[in-house]
Amino acid sequence: MTSSKKKGTLYLIATPIGNFNDISYRAITTIKNSEYIAAENTKHTLKLLNHLGIKAKLISYNDHNEKNQANYLLDLLQQGHDIGMVSDAGTPLICDPGYTIVNIAREKAIKVVSIPGPCALITALCASGMPTDRFSFLGFLPSTTSARQQKLKEMQEYPYTWIVYEAPHRILKSLTDMHTILSPERHIVIARELTKTFETVHSGTIENLLEILYNSKDEQRGEFVVIIQGKAKSSEVKSKDMQLLSLLLAEMPIKKACAIVSETTGISKKILYQEALKLKDKTYKV
Ligand code: SAM
Repeated sequence: MTSSKKKGTLYLIATPIGNFNDISYRAITTIKNSEYIAAENTKHTLKLLNHLGIKAKLISYNDHNEKNQANYLLDLLQQGHDIGMVSDAGTPLICDPGYTIVNIAREKAIKVVSIPGPCALITALCASGMPTDRFSFLGFLPSTTSARQQKLKEMQEYPYTWIVYEAPHRILKSLTDMHTILSPERHIVIARELTKTFETVHSGTIENLLEILYNSKDEQRGEFVVIIQGKAKSSEVKSKDMQLLSLLLAEMPIKKACAIVSETTGISKKILYQEALKLKDKTYKV
């Protein structure tokens, strides 16, 4: 028999990433109406609540107490209490706590509502001038040099925009590793202190931006989002690529063959299409 008691709702509330004015009307209303606010850092959230003139019952919920607190909060939700969850900045669960409780809440058929708002990666991406139609977000790069370099090697050939978060004490190390592994010419964007007084968005080659940061201690301070251009598609068609294309053309339509070769080699479909037409032409002339 299922309980007829109405369960509470878990609201995931995005809060500003710097500028307190970047909070939505709905976020404010939801904070006011929630019976409890689960906060990553209660002191930090109190500053925002004071700014908004809101009093709330704050409960600490962070990476260190997540296991115990998730059970406590789930009990409250089962009993019918509404809970708002906020992180220190931006959207909860994006490099911030919340995954465990949301995952269990959904398993237990507890309603989860996400109140959209600021998120550093999206704010940076939109201002970057990099392609936004397809991208990957990696969170923070690993803190040890060997693991970080390994991750960069894995991403070296990735053909679309990719994004990482970075801390001030590691930004130079990460950029130096990118310089070595991805090449000095790769295009990147560094978005620093977004929405805050000293916001800067620099774009250029890794070489250029490393130089800017090396030459200014100020440019090394604050919070960073780094956006990396995907590896440009190759335009060189090698003889082994032509062999593969030729084999596939015998079995399938030209578009499909070009798409498969493009996926495996990174060569643009347009170039392959031209090569495929030449191959077909030759076949008919023989
Ligand atoms: N939940 C947040 C979000 O929605 O973006 C991210 C939290 S994560 C723990 C913190 C990292 O996000 C920072 O180290 C930095 O890389 C990035 N970040 C947060 N606020 C930022 C800002 N105002 N400017 C640039 N990067 C920021």
